[in-house]
Amino acid sequence: MSLSEWQRKASALKFEGRAFVNGEYRDAEGGQQFACHSPIDGRLLTQVASCDQADVELAVASARRAFDSGEWSQLAPAERKKTLQRFARLIEAHAEELALLETLDMGKPISDSLALDIPGSWECIDWTAEAIDKVYGEIAPIPANQLGLITREAAGVVAAIVPWNFPLQMACWKIAPALAMGNSVILKPSEKSPLTAIRIAALAKQAGIPDGVFNVLPGFGHSVGKALSLHPDIDVLAFTGSTGVAKVLLEASGQSNMKRVWLEAGGKSPHIVFADADLDRAAESVAAGIAFNQGEVCTAGSRLLVDASVKDQLLAKVRQALEAWQPGHPLDPQTRVGAIVDHQQMEKILEYVQIGKNEGAQLSYGGVQTLAETGGTYVMPTIFDGVSSAMRISREEIFGPVLSVLTFADEREAIAMANDSEYGLAAGLWTTHLGRAHRVAKALRAGSVWVNQYDVGDMTAPFGGFKQSGNGRDKSLHAFDKYSELKATWINLE
Ligand code: NAD
Repeated sequence: MSLSEWQRKASALKFEGRAFVNGEYRDAEGGQQFACHSPIDGRLLTQVASCDQADVELAVASARRAFDSGEWSQLAPAERKKTLQRFARLIEAHAEELALLETLDMGKPISDSLALDIPGSWECIDWTAEAIDKVYGEIAPIPANQLGLITREAAGVVAAIVPWNFPLQMACWKIAPALAMGNSVILKPSEKSPLTAIRIAALAKQAGIPDGVFNVLPGFGHSVGKALSLHPDIDVLAFTGSTGVAKVLLEASGQSNMKRVWLEAGGKSPHIVFADADLDRAAESVAAGIAFNQGEVCTAGSRLLVDASVKDQLLAKVRQALEAWQPGHPLDPQTRVGAIVDHQQMEKILEYVQIGKNEGAQLSYGGVQTLAETGGTYVMPTIFDGVSSAMRISREEIFGPVLSVLTFADEREAIAMANDSEYGLAAGLWTTHLGRAHRVAKALRAGSVWVNQYDVGDMTAPFGGFKQSGNGRDKSLHAFDKYSELKATWINLE
């Protein structure tokens, strides 16, 4: 489809901005709304319900009622699987509409929404649903006069609070295992990108997920998010977002009911290039690792650590590779870099560019806003050379397309620099030396390590962070751990 065809479809699109509670769309109890603008051109898309405490009370009561009724929680796993697979099929059938909503709402290229975000969402539900009737309990190896059953049970009511960078996909990484396990779920999308989460609520109902089992509450973190985090009748809080908010949620759990808190938080991931690497391929990977999704990626390879002897050579290649990552109209299928999610985020990125300059780093590429005439929020991919580990641009998550370049003298120094971060989400390394690849991969304190590639993933592998990048894992069978309690039942056989 061409840019003009997508634009035509966009102008015919209908937006749903209401919350979804107990199987129906409704305005926020207090009647408040907030305006949802597109970062593509600043255009108002729709008004969205701004939920707060009163809506949380309704949603939790409805989720709890549904859970206690057993209609979903006690359903045979094979039946939940069928329903969730119908849900996945419906998302797939609405892929074009959902991709368009995602792109209009948060500015990412339509080609990514269509090829990655929406397929990644329904595939997650499909894969997880397929797995749920293969999850067995255990029998404890205890003396013969006892039978010890170890079973996994749904935790109860789950609140999922998600960010704006991969809105539907991040939501599905939470809701799929939570629903498959039999929980009731309340999803809170980011106020910056609520539209796909709201839209799929109707598809969940159409698929046969009972009323009250899946609810969506749009609104702000300080209102609806906070109310969810402190609610005494929520059993699990599953979060993806910044480390700062993650810490607030841990406190909220302690202040309320010790609800389980699972956190997928920020990152400042090192992308390490050794002198023996294939520099052409490494350069392509470094460029993609910082420019993909406008750099608004938790695993963005935002720290390039390169052997000092090949730094200039590699950097020239990275600059060249970035020519293919220039911002463009997100609805143009050729565009690889779209708009930054909103003005606030764009200002934050540009502020970090200024901080980098003030700290004495050398701006070697980009560093400016672009396409301002569109009314949208676009930033050029940016490279800072001559960065040191102490600089803020090398320590703090910018969440934009800003690459900090640091050099090392040997393998030991590379590992030490890579691990010198409060984060531990991901890391990449490039080398043609097999032994070095294994040694360094093992030494890196990160939840995902990529060797001679960057940012690959699959439903079969867990995803999550070490250190202040979080706890628990999304995806794979390990995701079920977050949404279930283990029970040991002792039966006296005498
Ligand atoms: P954010 O922490 O500002 O917001 C995330 C969500 O939390 C939003 O829905 C927001 O409304 C809500 N929230 C904010 N304050 C809250 C509060 N006091 N109580 C309850 N909820 C609150 O993050 P963001 O800007 O939306 O997303 C970017 C961040 O997400 C980055 O740090 C990025 O690294 C991280 N992220 C991590 C992963 C991962 O898997 N580790 C994936 C994607 C994004």
